[in-house]
Amino acid sequence: MTGSNLIAASAFGSVHGLLHSTAFDVARNLVLVLAVIFWLGLAYWVYRDARRRVDDPWLIGTATLVTIVAPYVGAAVYLLFRAPETLDDVRARDLEVRALEARIGMRTPHCPVCRADVDASFLVCPVCTTQLRQPCRSCSAALEASWQACPYCATPVVAGADLDAALAAEVTVTANGNGNGKAHARVKRARAKAS
Ligand SMILES: [Zn+2]
Ligand SMILES: [Zn+2]
Repeated sequence: MTGSNLIAASAFGSVHGLLHSTAFDVARNLVLVLAVIFWLGLAYWVYRDARRRVDDPWLIGTATLVTIVAPYVGAAVYLLFRAPETLDDVRARDLEVRALEARIGMRTPHCPVCRADVDASFLVCPVCTTQLRQPCRSCSAALEASWQACPYCATPVVAGADLDAALAAEVTVTANGNGNGKAHARVKRARAKAS
């Protein structure tokens, strides 16, 4: 029996005299050493696991301390109450949700003024009445400001509704053959407004 064995065995003081078999001593000390290694290993595992799940150093320290002070029981209690997700999981999920929101946000257009949800077919924002699109002069479809022609009926987009109306009036007047200058004046006014 070595000195270290004796020291370890003396931890059990009262029963040491009864258990004097060398084989039993060795087995018992081995179990004791393994138990201590497992206990410290559990404390280290709790420390590492808590660091992955909790952002608060005080909580991490408490969880580790409880595992050390109450061997095995502390680790079991920690397992019962630990956060269900790791910080990496939470971060990854946040990123996914944000990407999803961005994708949805791109698909549903917003009013540029009040950020209200609007439909692609709206001519004005229903909340703040901002003009969102121009109606097609042929099929009344909602056209974006950058479109040069209506995608539904192929009618070219002409800048300014007033100019459209004036030109239509001019054509009507010319076709009727009784132009009296009023239509031309209207076209001039509309052109000045549009430019
Ligand atoms: Zn709006
Ligand atoms: Zn059209």
